[in-house]
Amino acid sequence: MAVQSKGGKRAKGKRALGSKALGSRAVGSRAPGSLLTQSQIDEIFRRFHEACPHPKTELHYQDPFTLLVAVVLSAQATDASVNRATPDLFRVANTPETLLALGEAGLIEKIKTIGLYRSKAKNLIAASKKLVEEHGSKVPDNREALETLPGVGRKTANVVLNVAFGEKTIAVDTHIFRVANRTGLAPGKTPLDVELTLNEVVPERYKHNAHHWLILHGRYVCKARKPECWRCLINDICLYEPKTPAPG
Ligand code: SF4
Repeated sequence: MAVQSKGGKRAKGKRALGSKALGSRAVGSRAPGSLLTQSQIDEIFRRFHEACPHPKTELHYQDPFTLLVAVVLSAQATDASVNRATPDLFRVANTPETLLALGEAGLIEKIKTIGLYRSKAKNLIAASKKLVEEHGSKVPDNREALETLPGVGRKTANVVLNVAFGEKTIAVDTHIFRVANRTGLAPGKTPLDVELTLNEVVPERYKHNAHHWLILHGRYVCKARKPECWRCLINDICLYEPKTPAPG
C-alpha cells in the first residue's frame, strides 16, 4: 500500500482539516471492495460534508423534465456549455409537448453549440414522444422506466433519481471514476464496478450527497491531468502517489 510521499508531507502542513489518526497510517481492515478502511471512508465524507454541507448539481434546471434534458445534453460535454444553451431552449420548450412541437430541426438549432448535438436532439425528441405517449408527460421516478427512454443510460437515470426524486443513487461519471480509483475509495475497472462498491462503502447518511461531492472534488481539485494534491482535503487518506506538490 502506498504511503505519504515527500509532496504529501509538504502539503500536509497546509491543509485546514486533517486527521492523523485516520490518515494513511490508519490501521484496521479494509471496507469490502475498497482499499481504505471504513473509518477512513467515514472521515473522507465527514470532511466533504464539513466543507460543503449542501452540494448541488451545477446544471441549471426547473423540474424533473428540464433536469432530464440537461443531463442528456451534458453527456461528453461540460455543464457550462449546457447551461449556456438551456435558458434559450427552456424559454420555448420546457415540457415534452413543447419540445416535440419544436421538432428535431428546431431543437438542433438551440443546442448546436453542445457536443454530439445531432444524436442528442434525436434522442430527446424520441424520449419526449415516449413520455407523452406512455407516461402522461411525466418523468418516471424509477430506474426501469427511465432507462427505456432513448438517450438515458444508467448514469443519467442515477442523476435524475438522485436530484429530482431524492434517491440515494451515485451516478459514476468520468470524475467519480477517476477519484474513486486514485484514492482507493472504490477501485474498479468499469463505472458499474465503482458504483456498486460506493453503494456498499459510503455511509448511509452521506449517500444522497456523495455523488455531488465526488464530482466537485474531481472537477476542481483531483483534476484529470494534474491533481492538486497540495490543497486536497483528503490528501492524508488518499492512496495516490506521487502526490502533486504545491507549485513554486
Ligand atoms: S487531489 Fe486526488 S490524487 Fe491528490 S490527494 Fe486529493 S484525492 Fe488524492
